[in-house]
Amino acid sequence: MPRTKLIAANWKMYKTPEQTREFFRDFLPLVSGHSRDEIVVCPPDVDLASALDSAKGSNVAVGGQNVHWKQEGAFTGETSSAMLLALGVTHVIVGHSERRQYFCETDDTVNLRLKAALEAGLTPICCVGEVLEEREAGLTDDVLRRQCVRAFHAVSARKASKLVVAYEPVWAIGTGKTATAELAAEAHAVIRREATEVFGEEFASKLRILYGGSVKPENASTLMAQEEIDGALVGGASLDAKSFAAIVKY
Ligand code: PEP
Repeated sequence: MPRTKLIAANWKMYKTPEQTREFFRDFLPLVSGHSRDEIVVCPPDVDLASALDSAKGSNVAVGGQNVHWKQEGAFTGETSSAMLLALGVTHVIVGHSERRQYFCETDDTVNLRLKAALEAGLTPICCVGEVLEEREAGLTDDVLRRQCVRAFHAVSARKASKLVVAYEPVWAIGTGKTATAELAAEAHAVIRREATEVFGEEFASKLRILYGGSVKPENASTLMAQEEIDGALVGGASLDAKSFAAIVKY
């Protein structure tokens, strides 16, 4: 059975609640009736309520950009799965490279966050990807395998049913450099092989693996044409309603 593609927007630290409303006002008419792909917008936490309110009754879901592994507690600056769920959020990004690079996120904390998201019934978009030095040293496959094994540690196939993985080569994020479709497909195959090892073949054949890294309206259709690419995680180009709609409709 073909895997339904997931096109997700990662707004990073951009937009206010008012700008979020403006985005949805422009974006929703452009994608109304679009049922081929699943569409998700992940705004900053302060915009979640505006996004959910604006997207109500539409074909666009709303996701968080991170989730803590505890339900509540003295963890300043963090948001729990219970809090996301209480708002009506359905998806959450976990282990984004900017979290790993700037906020000391490790493979172990990615694993804890992933488990918390799955436990809560959220759809986690778990990000993996190599930095430029790792690619140049021929270490891409090893890095992807390590990140997957550690992220999936102690997660059962039953619990992981909603898991989505995003392959995001770090050198392609926000740089304008995109992995070629073939190069992305090769990395996706490594991730799928790892998922087969951990969760079994049936699970792995259904696992959606997104590509992220400078996806734009101009390159979306070439990337999405790859059988191994099951959607996109889009940063910069998702901030503009027209540009994100063009990607959704590749
Ligand atoms: C991202 O933030 O996950 C991302 C892929 O960013 P960009 O599309 O801007 O490279």
